[in-house]
Amino acid sequence: MLKNKIAFITGAGRGIGKAIAFTLASAGADIAGVDVNLEELKTVMEELSKTTGRKAIAIHADVGDYGSVETAVEETVKTLGRIDILVNNAGITRDNLLLRMNNEEWDKVIRINLTGTFNCTKAIIRGMVKNRSGRIISIASIVAEMGNAGQANYAASKAGIIGFTKSIAREYANRGITANAIAPGFIETEMTRALSGEVRKNLIDQIPMSRLGTPEDVANVVKFLASDDASYITGQVMHVNGGMYM
Ligand code: NAP
Repeated sequence: MLKNKIAFITGAGRGIGKAIAFTLASAGADIAGVDVNLEELKTVMEELSKTTGRKAIAIHADVGDYGSVETAVEETVKTLGRIDILVNNAGITRDNLLLRMNNEEWDKVIRINLTGTFNCTKAIIRGMVKNRSGRIISIASIVAEMGNAGQANYAASKAGIIGFTKSIAREYANRGITANAIAPGFIETEMTRALSGEVRKNLIDQIPMSRLGTPEDVANVVKFLASDDASYITGQVMHVNGGMYM
């Protein structure tokens, strides 16, 4: 499905980003994995290369810092040739009720989740415009649409990603570039492993499919959106949530 495509995936060192890297490589893509945690990322990229036979490079970059992203993009283009697929996946939470939320918790989540998506897209889209082709897939969240007590910063950052995606989709549709967002529900990763047993049980009670999603449930939708099968889909939000939000 993605033979000889080149994908730049942020937050690829673990969780959903790692599953996306393996899924796209299994479909034939070469991978530039980007993360702040270089040691974990290197291990993942080596394992990926061994199991799929695709090229995989590990690059340390903080998506919230434009200079760091620009350097990562240059290194990718130098090593792999170009970037066909951008997956804006890196994201963090700093949960708190609004009255207790400090400026640092607000700023950091907006900087990494929303400004990070802007930084990577801006640094990569010029090359896509030149190639008259590209796929931008950004990981938003169910809470962008539903809201969530204790996550005003995170929900705002993810809702921002959806508005950003729709604007980019309109700006670049006639250059052969599509931009879509995926809004996962609750997925089994480090991010959700931090939830207490009771919170987890309450969550599962709200999911018609009675389970959290797997990272692969999200990765398979990324693979579809990156493929030729999705060439007429742009500006959309794909929900992957076991029916939790309809
Ligand atoms: P995760 O397990 O915490 O993994 C995120 C990865 O991104 C980590 O390797 C992390 O590095 C890296 N990262 C953090 N800040 C970064 C930065 N500034 N620059 C580059 N990399 C950075 O998260 P996940 O659960 O896989 O989530 C992936 C994406 O899906 C996020 O955008 C998240 O908001 C979204 N999402 C997740 C869920 C869910 O239920 N898990 C639901 C909806 C949406 P460190 O290990 O050093 O922190």
